[in-house]
Amino acid sequence: MTALDLARASAPDTATGPLRDALVQLRDAIDVLGYDEGTYAMLATPRREMTVSVPLRRDDGSITVVTGHRVQHNLSRGPAKGGLRYSPDVTLDEVRALAMWMTWKCALLDVPYGGAKGGVRIDPRAFSRPELERVTRRWTSEVMPILGPDQDIPAPDVGTDERTMAWIMDTFSVARGHTVLGVVTGKPLALGGSLGRASATSRGVVHVALAALRHRGIEPAGARAAVQGFGKVGRGAAVFLAEAGVRVTHVSDQYGAVAAATGLDIAALERHLDATGSVVGFAGGDAVPGAEVIEADVDLLVPAAIEGVITEENAARVRAQVVVEGANGPTTPEADRILEDAGRLVVPDILANAGGVIVSYFEWVQANQAYWWSAPEVELRLEERMLRGWERVLGHAEAHGLSLRRAATALAVSSVAEAHLLRGLHP
Ligand code: NAD
Repeated sequence: MTALDLARASAPDTATGPLRDALVQLRDAIDVLGYDEGTYAMLATPRREMTVSVPLRRDDGSITVVTGHRVQHNLSRGPAKGGLRYSPDVTLDEVRALAMWMTWKCALLDVPYGGAKGGVRIDPRAFSRPELERVTRRWTSEVMPILGPDQDIPAPDVGTDERTMAWIMDTFSVARGHTVLGVVTGKPLALGGSLGRASATSRGVVHVALAALRHRGIEPAGARAAVQGFGKVGRGAAVFLAEAGVRVTHVSDQYGAVAAATGLDIAALERHLDATGSVVGFAGGDAVPGAEVIEADVDLLVPAAIEGVITEENAARVRAQVVVEGANGPTTPEADRILEDAGRLVVPDILANAGGVIVSYFEWVQANQAYWWSAPEVELRLEERMLRGWERVLGHAEAHGLSLRRAATALAVSSVAEAHLLRGLHP
């Protein structure tokens, strides 16, 4: 099968879910840039994919087998880079879409990586910590031929954390016979992690959210925001928004949502989450249906949970003037059009949530040099890169009459295409 056949096989009319959305965005960027079909085919098709069976010995002695993936979408600008997701909903197509978005994100923010993503089809809440350690170590062993600090560098995503990264780093290092700090990012500080990595995605989301609100003439202090998802990205985003004086009136997680018209006490909500594992039952707000968060009467909406939550079904009911995508792929292309027609400003995922990969890059640089930076140094460099990215995308959008997403994707795709062109096609 040729690359073009492969691209056709996964073209928007046959692909579904996030992969379809990613391919529609790519097709649009190719049209905006006037590139040929061969370039589309090359960029629509992952360079390398690995699907593995992960046999797991459960704590009761029984064996279960779960499926894992690693997809390297593009390698032209440097080693592959991207998160590892543990979720019962993981599919190969979802991992392909997430890997493609990583490629655009790294290119857009000038981080010298290609895009990758990994996934294990498992509900992490249904497994004990020792079981998750065994799954992680076995997944690492299975995909090890394509991992490495110069090849492919995983990081945390939905359902994984710094502990998971420590297990990957250890498994890889044991196989190599020496410690390889640069094989993952998002590691614990004691193992060569970077100061400021854990909060980086959320900080980056808030840097561009505040810039976008101001661009729309909305003063952040006193503005109202809704945040969907209260995990690694959403929780920090709510904290930093509140610190900036924004009233976070709605917050949700997969179990439910809470709301308070005058603004939720985010520090108290964090304590409630740490004690109970969910935002549900928080005494400082009213319980509301999860769907209300997307449609809340706020200035700013931050979807920070999963893909495909703003769709053609609910997009017309989004009331926020500004939508900042903390999650990857939360808005379908149909919803994007509805939001654009309604005059909403959507800051796309490949810009808005790039803070994580920016500080992952800083962590990799620090680990490779065995020299660590201070927290203010990391945070300042992160802010500079995020705001430079914001200005660049906004400038391109205004100059060419494009939405922020179309501008961002076109800028990213042109960087990757340029790298392809300069390197030439082997053989
Ligand atoms: P996480 O597992 O830490 O948190 C996910 C949160 O979303 C949890 O609060 C969960 O309860 C909630 N959630 C899940 N389904 C939901 C639903 N249907 N409605 C409402 N809430 C729901 O994951 P995370 O790392 O915070 O990632 C969230 C998103 O951000 C993902 O799209 C991820 O790919 C993206 N992202 C993460 C990072 C990072 O550094 N962690 C970086 C860039 C992008």
